[in-house]
Amino acid sequence: MPKYIDTHAHLDADIYSRDIENVVKAALAEDTWIVTVGSDYNSSVRAVEIAERFPEGVYAAVGLHPLKVPGVELAEDKLVNLEMFNELAKHPKVVAIGETGLDYHDLPQVRRNSPEAVAVERLKANQKKALTKFLQLAAENRLPLLLHCRDAHDDLLEIIERWDKTSRGFDCRGIIHHFSGDWKQARRYFNLDLSISFTALLVNGGYQTEVLRKMPLSHLVLESECPHLTSIPWNLRRNEPSFMPSVAAAVAGVRRQKTAEIAAITTANALRILNRLRPQG
Ligand SMILES: [Zn+2]
Ligand SMILES: [Zn+2]
Repeated sequence: MPKYIDTHAHLDADIYSRDIENVVKAALAEDTWIVTVGSDYNSSVRAVEIAERFPEGVYAAVGLHPLKVPGVELAEDKLVNLEMFNELAKHPKVVAIGETGLDYHDLPQVRRNSPEAVAVERLKANQKKALTKFLQLAAENRLPLLLHCRDAHDDLLEIIERWDKTSRGFDCRGIIHHFSGDWKQARRYFNLDLSISFTALLVNGGYQTEVLRKMPLSHLVLESECPHLTSIPWNLRRNEPSFMPSVAAAVAGVRRQKTAEIAAITTANALRILNRLRPQG
């Protein structure tokens, strides 16, 4: 078993196209396994292709990022081609559905009942419809979810809580990645048995660390969110999965625990949640 699991990386990003082999090699040298996450259909296909290239240590998630959901009026089947994602989800290297979720961060402030307000409401409704489809896909394929959420935690919680009550056999495993909510919201996720993950942004003081300090370790996992963010402050290098030890060290610092302890617990958690992630052969 690896020492660290990067539960959220984007290895299909252009910035890695020249030296992906070295990026993965550096991660494996740090005893780090990687889940490379798709943000739309093409990126999900690339994620699966990348996972296929490495016999062990690289896995894929397939999904549609909420910011890639169209804002125009569309029929449900045009919004997401679930058939295509469903086929992709059957691949043995796919360990999760994601990313999917809600992102209201960049929505403009609009006056009520203005034409702009109608457009904003339509975009939110489309994100929710797409999310619901991916919840369905996760349940059908018995795969955990990698959820993305910015400025929309109460809406996301409402959808998942409703889904949890109405869909038989959905056990709601999954991770809210790059967690940005407050303690109250975190607790509602834990009540649904969802876990949350932290990135290197911690190092730069970007989080309210209260949640991390108070939360049960049983629901904590780690991620790089590479190539975004970086775990080395003031350093202009691109972020990589091989920086996971510094994410674990930062979390350990906030929790006043040993880095090795945080690494062991978060890796065990990731393996429990992403239960198709296991050594080959
Ligand atoms: Zn995300
Ligand atoms: Zn992401």
